[in-house]
Amino acid sequence: MRIAVGGMQHETNTFTYLKTSLEDFSIAEGDSLLAIPEAVEGTSLQGIIETLKENKVEIIPTLFAYTLPSGTIEKAAYDNLKERFLTRIQDADQLDAVVLAMHGSMFVEDVGDADGDLLESVRSIVGPRIPIICALDLHATITNKMVKNANAFVGYRTAPHIDKEATGHKAAELALEVLRNSLEITTSWVSIPMLVSGEQSETKVAPTSKIIAELVHMPDGEDIMSSSIFLGFPWADVPFNCVSAIVVTTQGAKSAGEAEARRLAELIWENRHEFVFTTEAYPMEECLKIALEEKSAPIIIADSGDNPTAGASEDLAIALDILIKQRVKNALMAVIVDEAAYDKCVAAGVNSHVDLDLGRLDPTKEQGSPLSIRAQVKKIGLSKGIPSVILRVDDIDVIVTTKRTAVYDPELLADLGLDPREYEIIVVKSGYLSPEFQALTKRALLALTPGDTNLLLETIPYQVTKRPIYPLDKEFHWRPKA
Ligand SMILES: [Zn+2]
Repeated sequence: MRIAVGGMQHETNTFTYLKTSLEDFSIAEGDSLLAIPEAVEGTSLQGIIETLKENKVEIIPTLFAYTLPSGTIEKAAYDNLKERFLTRIQDADQLDAVVLAMHGSMFVEDVGDADGDLLESVRSIVGPRIPIICALDLHATITNKMVKNANAFVGYRTAPHIDKEATGHKAAELALEVLRNSLEITTSWVSIPMLVSGEQSETKVAPTSKIIAELVHMPDGEDIMSSSIFLGFPWADVPFNCVSAIVVTTQGAKSAGEAEARRLAELIWENRHEFVFTTEAYPMEECLKIALEEKSAPIIIADSGDNPTAGASEDLAIALDILIKQRVKNALMAVIVDEAAYDKCVAAGVNSHVDLDLGRLDPTKEQGSPLSIRAQVKKIGLSKGIPSVILRVDDIDVIVTTKRTAVYDPELLADLGLDPREYEIIVVKSGYLSPEFQALTKRALLALTPGDTNLLLETIPYQVTKRPIYPLDKEFHWRPKA
């Protein structure tokens, strides 16, 4: 059995001014993939490779490229990665299947739906009979082109995502079942006209928990071999925005698959009003008021409008400006990306005082409108390998970095010698907190701040998203087509 593996994973935020270039990607290709290099570690591809290895499959490693969610991918970057990936598929003789680790929701200049484009290219190389099976993120936006060119999709079932590898295992397991029993499989898909943010659909909380509980994965030739829901990604203005129900069956059980996809889609639609913020959410000022009244430190507030894990630029100083104006004591702001400010602090040296124009205060403007502050340079160091400084402004510590980073792992603070337990209030650039940050606080708050990941979806100026779509449009009738 010869199975090609690889994939490209990107969640593209089309609202940010940041473009995503080739240098932004972590890339691994060829045989190096088999040793699970850093780029592959913890991803669905790791699960795919491990399962295939355990089953003594001959693995044809292609290319895996991944980067933190960010803006639209430059066409040249995509073309480069696509060519390297497809060349390896092309050069592989007699493949029995292709199992890919994708995200879904990847958008490229002049291409648009890049997941669909990539799958279409793979299909044109391997022909119509070779199964193409994809592991996808729960926040994938499914498109016509994706469904037309792949045989099966298997999605994560947790957000925060703690089952990436497990999903890879499932995708590989499905491929093995198909090949061992010479099954022909197909996907039934219902696209639901809905936008929902990850912050309204954490999987431990209803209604998402309830819907996930209805999903199955039993790739043993039963009628329904696997079912998944995909919540889409609301910070992309694309004509194919939707939430999806996907059911994988054998060709013979296609009508059972269609009925099950409709049932899941109806369940999601009926619960559309129940997708509310799974963390308490208020304007920033209100979050601070609550935090100051709380006795158990630290209270962690997510600056959710500028969330890098959903592609935001992470350079907005709006939340910091409010912290300063409200004269908040013993607080930490993690982080603000500003390379020029970092350079100025390094040139001035530790303990010196500097006048800085930091970040941006106007989320609609790419440049200008910085926050002017006088700060003391407290420390210069590396945070998760990224050059960073700690600034002191009044009674607030601010981490300024040279590069965007997910505020996911508290090591980010530990690397700079900071102990989160010593602060009353910590503001992080995040949506829902990572399990690690969640564990540090008795109470997490979502600050509804402006930015590229504005959680108030009804206020986002979508231009090309197809209407009607909930919640931008509330009063319209929809039912899955029979
Ligand atoms: Zn996701």
